[in-house]
Amino acid sequence: MQIGCHGLVWAGSFEREALASALSRTHAAGFDAFELPLMNPAAFDLDGALEVIEAAPVKVVAASLGQSRDSDPSLGDPESFQAGLAKIGRALEIVQALGAPYLVGVLYGELRKYTEPITDAQRADVVDFVRRIADDAGERGIELGLEVVNRYESNHLNTGRQALDFIDRVDRPNVKVHLDTYHMNIEESDMAQPVLDCGDRLGYVHVGESHRGYLGSGTVDYMNFFHALDRINYDGPITFETFSTAIIHEDLSRMLAVWRNLWEDSEDLALRANQFIRAHYRAAQTTRMH
Ligand code: MN
Repeated sequence: MQIGCHGLVWAGSFEREALASALSRTHAAGFDAFELPLMNPAAFDLDGALEVIEAAPVKVVAASLGQSRDSDPSLGDPESFQAGLAKIGRALEIVQALGAPYLVGVLYGELRKYTEPITDAQRADVVDFVRRIADDAGERGIELGLEVVNRYESNHLNTGRQALDFIDRVDRPNVKVHLDTYHMNIEESDMAQPVLDCGDRLGYVHVGESHRGYLGSGTVDYMNFFHALDRINYDGPITFETFSTAIIHEDLSRMLAVWRNLWEDSEDLALRANQFIRAHYRAAQTTRMH
């Protein structure tokens, strides 16, 4: 079990010094692992990162990204389909070079509010797209986590059940479901069943509060969520994710609709999130022992 912290808790971009600082603060807050946001793989400072991670006190467990408008493979546009492949291709080179086992996020579309439902033809394009990036990832020993997000951020995978059906069609062993409690709290009927449905096809987990503030200060039902993780013997990463305009770039704030801040002190937030996740997971485990 690796408990991780998302990079945007600490910084808005990850050049050499910023990454070194984020990794050491992740460790100081008690986490085992770090998730690297790779919004723009083409501009990422890989040489700087390679210098830093060797001496870093925590491992980079994953990189994460979403597609942008010009790299969205779900639009029926060959140019954006190819741009999406190129973006993931570069991301996979980086993930492999950093020795991280996962690439996760909304790899299959743009993170935005769509104004139309996805069509069957568009779905078929995305199946083809994910097969191609899965084969590239597989040759590099990397697993893909397809993140299930709410209706305002995708018109495709909004529930764990939809993601499982999609992954069945893709039919590649290194493509897994990535669940996020923030999104589950909006779209799922409860917080346990999607986890139980996924079983060993759950590859990656984000823990975020209902308003993306301090864990435990919102409406997410963590008890049933962690019981379900325990019941499927989940042993993949669990990463704390949140966003604040105090940290992230204005463009990303707008995309994610961060209109108000629930926190400002990264250290305090992260320390308590790490304790919260470990306490809840431990509590769920004890009920099975007795
Ligand atoms: Mn997430």
